[in-house]
Amino acid sequence: MRHFDLVIIGTGSGNSIADERFAGWNIAIVEKGVFGGTCLNVGCIPTKMFVHTADLAAAPAVGARLGVDATLDGVRWTDVRDRIFGRIDPISTGGRHWRAEDNPNTTLFEGTARFVGPKTLDTGTGEVITADRFVLAAGSRPVVPDVADLASTGYRTSDTIMRLDALPARLTILGSGFVAAEFAHVFSSFGVAVTVIGRSDVLLRHEDRDVADRFTSLAERKWDVRLGRKAVRAERVDGEVRLHLKGPDGSEVVASDELLVAVGRTPNSDLLDLAAAGIDVHPDGRIVVDEHQRTSVDGVYALGDISSEYQLKHVANHEAKVVQHNLLHPDAPIAADHRFVPSAVFSSPQIASVGLTEEQAVARGVRYVAAKQDYAAIAYGWAMEDTTGFAKVLADPATGQILGAHIIGPQASSVIQPIVQAMSFGLDAKSMARGQYWIHPAMPEVVENALLGLDLD
Ligand SMILES: Cc1cc2nc3c(=O)[nH]c(=O)nc-3n(C[C@H](O)[C@H](O)[C@H](O)COP(=O)(O)OP(=O)(O)OC[C@H]3O[C@@H](n4cnc5c(N)ncnc54)[C@H](O)[C@@H]3O)c2cc1C
Repeated sequence: MRHFDLVIIGTGSGNSIADERFAGWNIAIVEKGVFGGTCLNVGCIPTKMFVHTADLAAAPAVGARLGVDATLDGVRWTDVRDRIFGRIDPISTGGRHWRAEDNPNTTLFEGTARFVGPKTLDTGTGEVITADRFVLAAGSRPVVPDVADLASTGYRTSDTIMRLDALPARLTILGSGFVAAEFAHVFSSFGVAVTVIGRSDVLLRHEDRDVADRFTSLAERKWDVRLGRKAVRAERVDGEVRLHLKGPDGSEVVASDELLVAVGRTPNSDLLDLAAAGIDVHPDGRIVVDEHQRTSVDGVYALGDISSEYQLKHVANHEAKVVQHNLLHPDAPIAADHRFVPSAVFSSPQIASVGLTEEQAVARGVRYVAAKQDYAAIAYGWAMEDTTGFAKVLADPATGQILGAHIIGPQASSVIQPIVQAMSFGLDAKSMARGQYWIHPAMPEVVENALLGLDLD
């Protein structure tokens, strides 16, 4: 049985660990799928490349309000798709080639790994290996809900929808979270009739309620949004997918050419047979880790979607750096910093958020003040004729410490970054607003004015 210094399971964020500082280590990397993981191949990067393209496709419709008459002549779907994967696929192939052929101290096993004993791993390639240390970076996968006959429909997930051969005329999206919101924007901008089905009474229900309500009402203008619905059965008849729903008004059927299932993601921990290795798991499937990303077994670390409640690439990357350090310096471990984790939804409009929502502040009994600033009341908002975006900030009235920020509107994912910085470095709202220049008339003025609107003690 071959023995390694380190085994890394998963080539997403886990692949970044074995850099030149590990040149003297004998390392095995195990990957069951496409090299490079979710973000590169089927997640953040291709989706945002589609979203940018969709924003362009949607621009003529916006231009008319500003006196620019333009029309969308068409979307060459296969060209759009092939541009995106023409950039991504070679990165994946190149990364795989480097690890498999050119990286002298790593051995790549291409199989589905599973523990068969403490620190003993079946690589899924016919070879069982052992190691002193393990990094579990096996990520997550789309949840497939319990809907009768769903499997018979040829439904898509985020893993497959971006590689369609042709644009469907009609797309049903089952799910109401960020993946659903992003793909609804992409496909509707490309001319597809989109129906979005959610179980709760609002889209993006984890966002601050003001933001979720605003997004939902805007979505209802563009997409057929059906909320409070439960999918009970699916079928493919005469080439179309029919989804049978139960809702507030009884039963209904939604028909479309393609069905995208986007109801969440589940950690891949179940594939690893962690019980055989004695590694503890939360009831929701996430591997239990401490602040140093250490699992319950000495020398075994976990990072990213398989252990994180965030399921975000910037969190997985941060945790990979923490694990890297702690592998190299086990006697001086560093802790992961999960205090202020921002997130964004790259739909239309964009949404970004960090810290407490107003509902969380209320539920936790935190004393707070909130202020909201519309894009419509800042100069760049006039330039864009934006009438629906806003920035909302929450702060501790006594100290001015920023507790949370929630932005819906153009470039929200960039506009929020100064607030993430302020929170991370302990800059209070008043100092942040008054202690620096804000470029006029740029979009971050929406943040400046929201901060100035806080009724601090
Ligand atoms: C559609 C979509 C859009 C997203 N957009 C964003 C975004 O805009 N911003 C953001 O921050 N995050 C986004 N995410 C989330 C982000 O992609 C993930 O949080 C991140 O990629 C997780 O990284 P990871 O290293 O934990 O796992 P992964 O990158 O998923 O890597 C895990 C790897 O492990 C392999 N593996 C699994 N089980 C085994 C096994 N038993 N044996 C061997 N190999 C195994 C998998 O094949 C995979 O390659 C998006 C996700 C999706 C699905």
